[in-house]
Order: sequence, then structure tokens, then C-alpha cells
Amino acid sequence: MAQKTVLIVYAHQCAASFNAAARDAAVQELSAQGYRVLVSDLYDMKFRAEATRDDVIGGLKNCELFQYGEETMAAWEEDRLSDDIKAEQKKVTEAELVIFQFPLYWFSVPAIMKGWMDRVLTQGFAFSLQNVYNNGLFKDKKAMLSFSTGAIQTMYQPDGINGDINVTLWPLQNGILHFCGFQVLAPQIFWSPAHSPHAARAAMLEGWRARLRGLMAEKPLSFAPCELFNLSFQGGFLMKPEARKDQEANPYGLTTGHHLGKPLPPDNQTRAGPTLKK
Ligand code: FAD
Repeated sequence: MAQKTVLIVYAHQCAASFNAAARDAAVQELSAQGYRVLVSDLYDMKFRAEATRDDVIGGLKNCELFQYGEETMAAWEEDRLSDDIKAEQKKVTEAELVIFQFPLYWFSVPAIMKGWMDRVLTQGFAFSLQNVYNNGLFKDKKAMLSFSTGAIQTMYQPDGINGDINVTLWPLQNGILHFCGFQVLAPQIFWSPAHSPHAARAAMLEGWRARLRGLMAEKPLSFAPCELFNLSFQGGFLMKPEARKDQEANPYGLTTGHHLGKPLPPDNQTRAGPTLKK
């Protein structure tokens, strides 16, 4: 039987960093479980972040009006994407789990990692208009964010100065990972390692190792299934009236994004939840 593969997409400039230690812990623990672990060390690879015309080999479909999404979709179909994109797509194809390991930058991933997402997750390869969210092309794969923050945990509470971390994570976890179909595992958040004593940092890494031992058996986060929505331009891709009616008695919104004007479902983007009914 083929060896199962995990891909770690890693973005930190320094081998002595806390993020490097978190990456190393994942490589060790997953290798010990028999996984083949691939690491894309983006800064070391000098991975290009900008989505440009250079990503397409050969002629363009429309030179007058360059549309990156259209051109890369055609290039993917015709095997004309640049070699660095193709190499990363091959790793994603082989992986059953993709872990993104990074320091939080401006409430998001570092630019080099966002560039990886922009360039590698091309239309056709990572999604199609018919295949998104729970019907997405990667629905048999898992993905997760593993990141450190500068801020302490209370700063990312709903009443903390940075606001609710669940809101911060919604665009990355729903808008990118789940959009491509990935089952999204709860994020691994290392709160403020730089402002923690050594023993606390060591405990964070030990907690991560313990989690990695059971990671593959974890339930994913809850997202709203496509079947709840009217999937047409005429219908505005809005939630169907019967689905809205089903939600009337729920004191909370359905997900962080689909809050329906109600209080957010607690921890929707940070803890595994029930599979939502289609
Ligand atoms: P490091 O500084 O590398 O490590 C922290 C400590 O851990 C160091 O003392 C290191 O020696 C030690 N360490 C390394 N290995 C180990 C080990 N094996 N065991 C124990 N200790 C170890 N933060 C936010 O919260 N929100 C933001 O929006 C945000 N935006 C940012 C934007 C930019 C452009 C930048 C530069 C920073 C931003 N930050 C933000 C802060 C950033 O997220 C943190 O600086 C980062 O997460 C810290 O992680 P690190 O790996 O760089 O830590």
C-alpha cells in the first residue's frame, strides 16, 4: 500500500524560531506514525508570492485583457503552469493532510504563504464552479492552520482588543481551505510564544506533539453545506427559505460567517463541531 503523505507548508525565515520548532515537532510525530512528511519551506525555496503572467508557459488566451484566473485555469488544463506551481500541486495531490505552519501576520498568513495559496490553488486543480465547499475537489483531504501569535489569548476574545479569533480565521478557513473542499481541522494556536517563559513554550510544543498523535482521528470544524443555498445567480446564492426557517429556533447563527444576524456560534472556527444538516 502507498505510504500516506502529509504536506507542511511552512513560512518562517529563521531555523531557530518557535515556528521551526513547531514544524519539527510535526515532522517527527507524523513520521513516527508512518507518514511520509513533505515540507515546503517557502522562504528557503524563495517561493514567488506574486501571481503574474510568468505563471503561464506559452501564449496567453487573451493578451489584451490578462485575467489571472482564466489564464491559469487554461494553463492547468494544458499542463502549461510554471514548474514551481506544478511541483506544489503534485505535493497537494499526494497529501491527505496539509498543515500550514506560520506566524500570524496582520491577522492572516504571511504574504509568501498567501502567494502560495493564490498561485497553487488554481481553478480546475483546487476548485471548479460546480465543486466548492462540501462538494469541493479536495473533500477527501484535510487541512489545518498551525500558527503563533504576538498577542496573548485574551486579546483575541470577543471582548478583547483584537476581537474574536473566530472572526479572524473565517476568511482563511472558510474562504480558502473549505472553499476548495478541505475538511478543516481545528487550528493549532500558539499564543504569544515570544512573551512566554521557556517552560510555557516547551509545554505548548508538548501539547502540539500530543495532539499530533490523535490528529488524523479528529472531527473537522462545522461549515454550512452548499445544499442549504439556492445555487443560482437568479437566486442570489442565498439560503433557501426552508433552511432559514429551520434556523429560526436556533439561538445562535449557523456558522461564524452565516450568523443570520444572531450571536455567533461559540468557537465555530476554533473547535470541532457537529456536521450541519443538509
Ligand atoms: P520566535 O520569536 O522565533 O520565538 C519565540 C521564542 O521561542 C524565542 O525566544 C525562541 O528562542 C523560542 N523558541 C524557539 N524554539 C523553541 C523551542 N524548541 N522550545 C522553546 N522555545 C523555543 N501578531 C498577532 O498576534 N497578530 C498580528 O496580526 C500580527 N501581525 C504581524 C505582522 C508582522 C509583519 C509581523 C512581523 C509580526 C506580526 N505579529 C502579529 C507577531 C507575530 O505573529 C509573532 O512575532 C510570531 O507569531 C512569533 O512567532 P516566531 O516563531 O517568530 O517566534
